Amino acid sequence: MDYAKNILETIGNTPLVKINKLTEDLPCLVLAKYETFNPGNSVKDRMALTMIEDAEADGRLKPGGTIIEGTSGNTGMGLALAAIVKGYKCIFVMADKQSKEKTDILRAVGAEVIVCPTDVDPTDPRSYYSVSKRLGEEIPNSWYVNQYDNLSNTKAHYQSTGPEIWNQTEGKITHFVVGVGTGGTISGVGRYLKEQNPDVKVWGIDTYGSVFKKYHETGIFDEKEIYPYVTEGIGEDILPKNVDFDIIDGFTKVTDKDAAVYTQLLAKKEGMFLGNSAGAAIKGLLQLKEQFTKDDVVVVLFHDHGSRYVGKMFNDEWMKKMGYID
Ligand code: PMP
Repeated sequence: MDYAKNILETIGNTPLVKINKLTEDLPCLVLAKYETFNPGNSVKDRMALTMIEDAEADGRLKPGGTIIEGTSGNTGMGLALAAIVKGYKCIFVMADKQSKEKTDILRAVGAEVIVCPTDVDPTDPRSYYSVSKRLGEEIPNSWYVNQYDNLSNTKAHYQSTGPEIWNQTEGKITHFVVGVGTGGTISGVGRYLKEQNPDVKVWGIDTYGSVFKKYHETGIFDEKEIYPYVTEGIGEDILPKNVDFDIIDGFTKVTDKDAAVYTQLLAKKEGMFLGNSAGAAIKGLLQLKEQFTKDDVVVVLFHDHGSRYVGKMFNDEWMKKMGYID
């Protein structure tokens, strides 16, 4: 019989799928690493499991312990699934700009969810960074995951996502394009691919309101770059340890409107019902058109599933209210 011993064994080995209509004007082959096939419907299952296993191995996480994390939802889902199988409790701290579906989903898998204001400085005691850190210090037998600076995040992608993409493209990949939040995906996959072939180009997708692009280009952490934005999952107002700027060749920024519109277009033109950062990633890839030539094999990674955005990017009333469609 062929079966997984538990749900965690189904993480990874996701398909690579050709994008056809949206990339018609590009000279190259564009393939999507389709991470919604993971059991928690996002790429984050991979790093959640690796972070837990590494914390178990060195004693940071002990039997019956409580896992605490600031999460926009997907990491929480991955942690919650692993916690159920392995017998831990979960408390998640989220920013109030995140979609309601994400909070509901985390509560559905048994986690306690605390919602914090989005528009406060990361160092403010009310911010979700500060609250999650404080709970980690106060709650006995707890472990604060810290996906931003926890390097097991990058390691997960170096060990699984990177090798999968390399093998699925038979080493023919020339460009890797991906949204950047904690930086785990781009750094882990990018490092693996460049070790196999230093000519592979690695492009990060950033948002307006985030510090990454400017920092990468100038080395300056410019607070003027920071302002609230709508796009979910990518961009930051901090520099996480998981972003390895040296392996990234460049960033392109995508507007909130374009990210939302292209999230709809992926569903309507490709049958790919995906999250908001997938819209940003495909639009960013199209912005990079001049980079690509006919023999190139470009892989874009799509992080999460559309079901988490039915109240927003897939709701035309919301899209009109935001001024994204007429
Ligand atoms: N897209 C979505 C939907 C996400 O949840 C995240 C993680 N914040 C990302 C993209 C960015 O991935 P990473 O944290 O690995 O940079």
